[in-house]
Amino acid sequence: MNAVVFEIGKFATHDGPGIRTVVFLKGCPLRCTWCHSPESWKAEPEQYPDGTIVGKVMSSDEILAEVLKDKDFYEVSGGGLTVSGGEPLFRAEFLVELLAKAKAAGLSTAVETSGYAPPAAIEKVAAVCDLWLFDVKGLDPEKHRAHTRVDNAPILRNLRWLDAHGAKIVLRCPMIPGVNDFPANLAALGKLADELKGIERIDVEPYVPYGIDKARKLGLTVYEAPMPPPEYGSGVVSVLAKQTKKPVRLG
Ligand code: SF4
Repeated sequence: MNAVVFEIGKFATHDGPGIRTVVFLKGCPLRCTWCHSPESWKAEPEQYPDGTIVGKVMSSDEILAEVLKDKDFYEVSGGGLTVSGGEPLFRAEFLVELLAKAKAAGLSTAVETSGYAPPAAIEKVAAVCDLWLFDVKGLDPEKHRAHTRVDNAPILRNLRWLDAHGAKIVLRCPMIPGVNDFPANLAALGKLADELKGIERIDVEPYVPYGIDKARKLGLTVYEAPMPPPEYGSGVVSVLAKQTKKPVRLG
């Protein structure tokens, strides 16, 4: 099968254990106001005004061949393949095929996801995914809908299903000043992490304004706020760490 890849990041050290290659697939059903990769929203390749094409159709074999170029690094570091997006579960059948081939080649596998997918997609991918980097963008249903365009109920249902079926999970929490960093959300995140035994850690990911220029070039709109001060992320980490027994760190 084929999918549209908009980036392949080598030597990543923040997207799962060890040294990893991160494959970013185009296509996402969410529209997070703060998105730093709005070029991932459409599933098809597209073009910036300067003529640069974003997205390349690749087969799972082509992607795997690229990923395996760094197999030596994965072996010494315990790393492997992480698939991100966009929303990689948007192409669940392709994702299963790619991860199954990676596992057959001896690689560890991770998926970074918003968790917004049909339950059947989660179940199929769970069979070939060693680690879930699972975004929880907010626990207030109305605010979640307002800032992502989708309900958080199916996301939380999928998270609980994964936990009940023994998945290893790192919660990834984008922190957007004035959007989801309020005390009630941090308290609810801490409570959720303590309820679910599969959650190994919470990564706090402070807002970065990297999507603004890309969105303008594509005629899209994202949250236009300045980079928060350097101490913002560590401040959120220390508040959240008081709300949970799970480790909390800057992602
Ligand atoms: S889920 Fe990720 S890629 Fe999709 S809109 Fe939200 S931040 Fe952007």
